[in-house]
Parts: sequence; structure tokens; C-alpha cells
Amino acid sequence: MKGRIVILGAGESGAGAAVLAKKNGYDTFVSDKGIISSEAKGILEENAIPFEEGKHSDHLILNADEVVKSPGIPATIPLVVKLKEKGIPIIDELEFAFRFTKAKIIAVTGTNGKTTTTLLIYHLLKEAGLNVGLGGNVGVSMAKQLATQDFDYWVLEVSSFQLDGMIDFRPHIAVLLNITPDHLDRYGFQMQQYIDSKFRIMQNMGSDEHLILFADDENIKKELNKRHIGTSMYKLSLEGLKEKGAGVTAEKLQFRLTDKNSVDWELTKSELPIRGKHNLVNCMAAISAAHLVKLSPQEIRKGLATFQNAPHRMELVTQKEGVDYINDSKATNVESAWYALDSIQKPIIWIAGGTDKGNDYSSLQPLVKERVKALICLGVDNVKIKEAFEGRVGELFETQTMNQAVEMASKLAEKGDVVLLSSACASFDLFKNYEDRGEQFKTAVKALQKN
Ligand code: ADP
Repeated sequence: MKGRIVILGAGESGAGAAVLAKKNGYDTFVSDKGIISSEAKGILEENAIPFEEGKHSDHLILNADEVVKSPGIPATIPLVVKLKEKGIPIIDELEFAFRFTKAKIIAVTGTNGKTTTTLLIYHLLKEAGLNVGLGGNVGVSMAKQLATQDFDYWVLEVSSFQLDGMIDFRPHIAVLLNITPDHLDRYGFQMQQYIDSKFRIMQNMGSDEHLILFADDENIKKELNKRHIGTSMYKLSLEGLKEKGAGVTAEKLQFRLTDKNSVDWELTKSELPIRGKHNLVNCMAAISAAHLVKLSPQEIRKGLATFQNAPHRMELVTQKEGVDYINDSKATNVESAWYALDSIQKPIIWIAGGTDKGNDYSSLQPLVKERVKALICLGVDNVKIKEAFEGRVGELFETQTMNQAVEMASKLAEKGDVVLLSSACASFDLFKNYEDRGEQFKTAVKALQKN
């Protein structure tokens, strides 16, 4: 036996870590304070992994040599405090999985755009014929996959909560897309703590590794001034190509990823599969990463032509009587809603609101005044969002059901308008999650078509 590993939380990552630990000869135990899904239970039973649910038993956990904690469990719960007091290392599933791979890792983090960029990098590499796996916050747990197979490359979506549990994790290429306020409740309402967490992605990277980052981001810029970065750096900017990295002109994306003093290659914006300023950043990041693993411009172009983003991200649901219905339910914070509004050049009927995470809506006010004809607030408590936009939009309504929100929007919309669901808020007041909110939007929009 290699020692005792206790896994806290039997979700996708926890069950996966358990399978990998067991397979590698650890004394493995899983503990979940909630009810474990029947699927996860099946996996644990199949692999003869002992578990408990509905509780955390100290005597079965505090004897661990190491603990793999689900990113969803805050570091402040009493059990985690006790583990820390005893000096038991607490790590993330990806940190654990990293020990068992020989692959080159491409890790993507940032407040927004992680899934889109991760999927795009994965798609480009896969289409070019590389042996590549996908993991982290998307799809099947990396650890679970590693129990049966490794790849030459892994593309991983990494959240700040996962980075908090990283010790030796060292990507070959890291992407840092942006850092704007989010999840601050988990960081003692200290923005610096959240920034530090994001910068952990590069904590072990050296001169042989590559860091791609969005250099226009104020928080990233400020932090770079404070730190010495010992890895090769590629800066992405929406204001043109100034340093090694990528930049945007009126019509093109330009790349300079070598030490040459000229543009390596460029492509026109119309070749990109996803729209909006934010997606220019995501595309620059993904294409730069693909370049750094030596994909040719032809291979990248071929991959771009067949990419389809995950649902609920600026997803065009339908066009009805000249009105576009766009589902951006994944926009759960102010910054992502800003990019959604900014990317639409037509008058907007905007459906927004939900669980407020301490939002400051002021950055949205000028855009809303310019583009939003009507705001439909869809939340249990709409006071704050109403106050922020009253007088800045032509009309303002309130509702607590998606059907009513969509019906109202369709009545207000005229030919050439866009109905946009981009909430700027979490969904938990009225919906199970953002997927549920997005699905309800799509169902309501499709029902309109039948009437
Ligand atoms: P994440 O996985 O980080 O949540 P997604 O790719 O799922 O990111 O996108 C989440 C939301 O953020 C979407 O509503 C999308 O329109 C918006 N978004 C995507 N990329 C960016 C970006 N680079 N900057 C700001 N917002 C973005």
C-alpha cells in the first residue's frame, strides 16, 4: 500500500480521483456530506472503493496521508480546518492526476472564457490528428480517464478553486484569459486573494514552458508589474500586436510567437467560428496554444472551420420574424454580460437578473443605455438590477418565469432586434443551474414558433 488517500466529495472529479488512487494501490476512502449519485456509487462499488455519504467521519478522514478535496468544498469548513491543523496535504483532483501522466499539459484559466477556449484548443489539436485528452472542469474527470489511458497532450479547464489545490502541477502551456471579480465569497472578499489563486497556474513553470495571457486586463497588467515571470510569455491584445503574442487589427488577427520582429502569420476575423470581442481573445489564445504545439496555419484554419462551441454561450436559438433569440445563460457575472451586449450591434431586448453575487452594474450602464430597448428582470429579488438600470432603458419589466419573460420579449421585439438572455447573475433563485435556465429559454422560444 502506498498510504491512505481520502477523497472529499464524490462528484465527477472525486469519483475519478478515487478510481485512479485505487488502481495505483492507495488505501482509498471517499466521504461526501451530501447524497452520492447512483452513478458515482456504481463506480465506487465496481472498483471496491469504500465510501460514506451524508456525513464526514473524522476518524475515517483525519488518518489520511493526503486528501483530495472537491473544488466545491470551501477551505473554511471545520473538517478542512482540522486537516490543515494536522498538516495533512489537501490537493485537487488535477494535482493528483498530474502525477500519473507523461503528457504535455495545456491548462486554461481565467474568470470567463475557460470552457470556450479549452474546447477550441482541444478541437484544433484533435482535428490536426494529435493524441489529445480533454479534462478539468469539462467532461469526464482527468483522473478517471487516466485510470485507463494517457494521451500525448491534455487540454484542461482549470478554475481558481482547482488552482487552490495545486502543489506540483506544471503545465507546458498555460493560458490566463482575464481576472475580474467573481467568487469573492470564497476569497474572504479580497480581490488579491482571487488574483493570487489565478496566478498559481504558473507557479512551477520555467523557461521551457509557455504562458499566454490577455495583456489588456487591468488586474493581470498590475500583477505582472509586481512579479518576475520566468517563463516565455505571449501577450494577447485587442489593441494590436505590440509584443510577442497576438493582436487584433480592424479585420485581422495577427500572431508573432517567435522572437522575430515581424508578424508570423495572420488570419481574417471572418475565418473565426465564434463572434464577439471576448471570443477574439479566446481565439487568439487557442490559436497561439495550437501554434506552440507546432500546428501549421493550414491545420489551424481547417480546425477553426469545423468548431462548434458548447451550448448556452451566445447560442443563436432561432430567428423568428426577423428577431434573433440568443441564449447566453452562461453569462453569470457582470463582465460576461458586458461582452455579450457589446458583441450585438442591433437593438436588444435584454433578459437579465437572478442571484446577485455582490454585482456592481455600473460598468454596464453606458452600453445598456446605448443598445437596450427593454430590460426584462428575471429573478426573485430584482431590486438592485432595477435600480441600476431604471431610466437607462426604454422599458423595464419584471417576472419570475422564463415563459413569461420570453413572451414579453417577443411582444416587444420588432424586426431587426435581438432578444438576449445574458443574466449577469447566477441562476439558483429560479433554476437548478445555468444549463436549466438556458434550456428553459430555448424551450420557451421554440414554443413561440408554434403559436
Ligand atoms: P467559463 O468556462 O470561464 O465560465 P465560458 O467559455 O463558459 O467561460 O463563457 C462564460 C461566459 O462568459 C459566456 O457568457 C461568454 O459569452 C462569456 N465569455 C466568454 N469568453 C469571455 C472572455 N474572454 N471575456 C469575457 N467574457 C467571456
